[in-house]
Amino acid sequence: MRRKMAAGNWKMNGSTAALSELTALGEAHSDPKCELLICPPATLITAARNTAAKQIAIGGQDCHEAPSGAHTGDISADMLVDAGASYVILGHSERREDHDEDDSDVRHKARAALDAGLKVVICLGESLEERESNNTLDIIGGQFAGSIPDQVTGENLVVAYEPIWAIGTGKVPTLDQIGEVHDFIRARLERRFGAGVGRSARILYGGSVKPDNAAAIFAVSNVDGALVGGASLIAADFSAIINALDKA
Ligand code: PEP
Repeated sequence: MRRKMAAGNWKMNGSTAALSELTALGEAHSDPKCELLICPPATLITAARNTAAKQIAIGGQDCHEAPSGAHTGDISADMLVDAGASYVILGHSERREDHDEDDSDVRHKARAALDAGLKVVICLGESLEERESNNTLDIIGGQFAGSIPDQVTGENLVVAYEPIWAIGTGKVPTLDQIGEVHDFIRARLERRFGAGVGRSARILYGGSVKPDNAAAIFAVSNVDGALVGGASLIAADFSAIINALDKA
């Protein structure tokens, strides 16, 4: 069966002082049932890898599609690996919005990341307007087809369903709405990649997951864990979410 996953996205937050949260997390979860992943800012990846207990994987939040070259300010997938990352988040709605990334950009980045040996967490999600006009599944289906490259396996692909309107807002879809999208993504995975990959790739929910709503979300079908922003910055909050996932 799929191993559940609790992934934290620190976004553009945290300096070296924040590494104490990683130490606390490792001490609180020395032998977790679920897989733990923290994606700090790129400046902290090496220090995070050196600080974190081995049961905590470290990831990047983006990578360039090229292996090297004249791309000022960008980071390649090989560089992430060199810095100590084993995962990378791609296609987060903040990247899609702030940097105009489209599905094709995400797919090319994902290809580069897989070539470098990284596992990918590919984010899909609808806007509030798309949800309210009943276009959610069309949008998710289009992003799924366009953002995920063909060469994924059940082990190196994690899909994160992150409704844009739920990120950092405290608003959460109903459990039925979450279940509908996760079941849809599972069906698309099986249809496109076959039962092997389709049933072993994990699907995370992301968007205002907190200690007090985590258990209910983790009980929804095809929710294999969470991608957590704000609540991953404080070890005690993230730890409560991990505990809920380990009990699910
Ligand atoms: C995110 O940015 O991936 C996220 C889910 O953020 P938050 O948990 O703060 O809503």
